[in-house]
Amino acid sequence: MGPIQTLCCPRDGTALVRGHATRSDAFTDHGMLHCPTCTGILLNAEAATNSITEEKLKKMHQAFQTDCEKTDLDCPCCDSKMRVRQIVFKRINGTDLEPIELDGCPECNTFWFDSGELQRVVSPDDEPYEESDREANALLMALELLILLPYKFV
Ligand SMILES: [Zn+2]
Ligand SMILES: [Zn+2]
Repeated sequence: MGPIQTLCCPRDGTALVRGHATRSDAFTDHGMLHCPTCTGILLNAEAATNSITEEKLKKMHQAFQTDCEKTDLDCPCCDSKMRVRQIVFKRINGTDLEPIELDGCPECNTFWFDSGELQRVVSPDDEPYEESDREANALLMALELLILLPYKFV
C-alpha cells in the first residue's frame, strides 16, 4: 500500500489511526481506521482488499446515493457532505439487531460508524473500556463481524 494521507474524524477533527499492529492486519485489509478521541470508525470500501467486504460495502454505498437525510458531516475522504441512514443487521438466526445510524458519503465509498451506536448494538450491557485504544479495538472487531451479516436499510 502506498503512503496514506491523513484522514480526520468527521465529528471532532482528530487524525484517524489504524488498529493495533499486533493484531492481524484484517483491519487494514478492510480499510478501517478509528478516531482515538470518540472511537468512531471509518470504513472505506476502496481500501478493502477482501472482495466479500468490498462487494458488500459497494452495495451499501448505493443506498447513500438515493434518498436519505443530509448531515453537516464532511466526508473525511472527499469534499462531499455525508448522509445518514438507518441500517439493520440480521443475526445468524435471522432476527434483527437494533437499527444503527450509519453515515455514508454519496460520492466515495466511505462510511462512518459512531462508537456509541456500535456499542449499543454489539454489546448493549457492557460498559465501554476506559482506554480508548482497547475500546476502539473491541469495536473494530465487532464491526468486522457485523459487516459480514446480512443487512437492510430502514
Ligand atoms: Zn472522533
Ligand atoms: Zn466522500
